[in-house]
Amino acid sequence: MAGLEDLYKEIIIDHHRSPRNRGELETPPATRTEGFNPLCGDEIVVYLDIDGSGTITDVKIGGQGCSISQASASMMSAAVKGRSVDEARSIMGDFKAMLSIDTGNGEPAEPVDEETQIRRMGDMVALKGVMRFPARIKCATLSWNTLEQAFTEAASGSD
Ligand code: ZN
Repeated sequence: MAGLEDLYKEIIIDHHRSPRNRGELETPPATRTEGFNPLCGDEIVVYLDIDGSGTITDVKIGGQGCSISQASASMMSAAVKGRSVDEARSIMGDFKAMLSIDTGNGEPAEPVDEETQIRRMGDMVALKGVMRFPARIKCATLSWNTLEQAFTEAASGSD
């Protein structure tokens, strides 16, 4: 389906050129977490503000790297902003399942049809093609893994 592939490519280019939530937050109260993908040289910095009820009130992204890593970080920030930590983890699970990554919880990634994926994942479905390039999967998941690390740091941090 060439049409869909082109659309996905455009979505990735758009997020790469006009990254969402790019910038910094004041630390503290925000946390600052760095992620690095040595295979490609990608760097992602996640600034995270979580309120007392566990809602991600703000998220900002810094760093540099290939278009896949930066587009994925942009999509991730848009997907989790305003959500609870639990919701963000659930989106992360869906995202990794989409890329057929074994999340280590013993359950095989459940195959879902394209329509369901688009509804659940929004722009992130554009990264599905990365699945065919195992070396790039780490580029696509770097921002999510950095977010997970940021949750851990936020939980063990301040209060
Ligand atoms: Zn990369």
